[in-house]
Amino acid sequence: PLVLGIETSCDETGVGIVRGTTLLADTVASSVDQHARFGGVVPEVASRAHLEAMTPTVERALADAGVTFADIDAFAVTAGPGLPGALMVGVAAAKAYALSLGKPLYGVNHLAAHVCVDQLEHGKLPKPCVALLVSGGHSSILLVPDVATDVRSLGSTVDDAAGEAFDKVARVLDLGFPGGPLIDRAAREGDPGAIAFPRGKYADGTYDFSFSGLKTAVARWVEARERSGEPVPVADVAASFQEAVVDVLTHKALKVCKDNGVRDLLIGGGVAANSRLRALAQERCDRAGVRLRVPRPKLCTDNGAMVAALGSELVTSGLAPSELHLPADSSLPIEVITL
Ligand code: ATP
Ligand code: MG
Ligand code: FE
Repeated sequence: PLVLGIETSCDETGVGIVRGTTLLADTVASSVDQHARFGGVVPEVASRAHLEAMTPTVERALADAGVTFADIDAFAVTAGPGLPGALMVGVAAAKAYALSLGKPLYGVNHLAAHVCVDQLEHGKLPKPCVALLVSGGHSSILLVPDVATDVRSLGSTVDDAAGEAFDKVARVLDLGFPGGPLIDRAAREGDPGAIAFPRGKYADGTYDFSFSGLKTAVARWVEARERSGEPVPVADVAASFQEAVVDVLTHKALKVCKDNGVRDLLIGGGVAANSRLRALAQERCDRAGVRLRVPRPKLCTDNGAMVAALGSELVTSGLAPSELHLPADSSLPIEVITL
């Protein structure tokens, strides 16, 4: 099926078009620059930016894919989780397109879409697979028997999300926002073993994460350094912090694979763009005999193609479309794949 997907859960207005598992267009307009001076996404600013970007982004995606509205078989939209006002803009637009064109609409879960997007790059997901989902708002390990019908959370962060920790530590180091890519870059010049930062919950036997202690430890370390009048070794701090995060993430994800006898691991969400996470995960998967799938960085951060990918999977699986009174649900649980 030819599916158009709309994503507005945070600060990216994303429109993607797929045919089956083939990507035809992936157009993203971001309001990230408008949030940078606040050091985080401002919901009202994001909502307004979605409203302004929606029509041009849809039109650009159609042009990129070389298709017209009449060709689209179904629409998909992120129904949650995310910022309520931001979600509402996407859901309202998708309803308008679907209703006016007489096409089915699928409201989908943003997190399941982060998992499903990999099908556009590496083909159908193995059933089951384990998914490590790490983004600005979420850090979870999922068991995925079937991305269209059955996604189970086995563990998640008890405090900050991994991406949130990257963003906060970047602020401590005066690197800017969003912090993930900036820490990634700074860390390349640093020594990951320079400072032994804490690895919260590493050996607690659960599949949960904790990153707020790490974030505080980095802030304390930097403060102490500043007080002593010595320069802060930014690259070493970035590399050591990043190592602590990706060490715990990969350790726990592989533990879930081992404990459940699953031989395929997928990493998704914005933090999956992290170069050290990709490298360490590959190294540890190779050693454990687990196949690793990580979408290319542009598909890891928020985009519309992931929404279209999940919509296409739902159509192919024969699932019923959503009702046109479909709500936006800012706290949609991961188990609810479509509503
Ligand atoms: P969610 O899916 O939870 O709603 P989100 O809307 O914040 O998250 P994503 O695009 O999935 O959006 O993820 C953004 C996060 O990914 C930010 O915290 C950002 O710092 C982080 N990130 C992006 N690139 C990298 C990188 N190279 N290394 C580490 N973190 C990164
Ligand atoms: Mg974003
Ligand atoms: Fe996301």
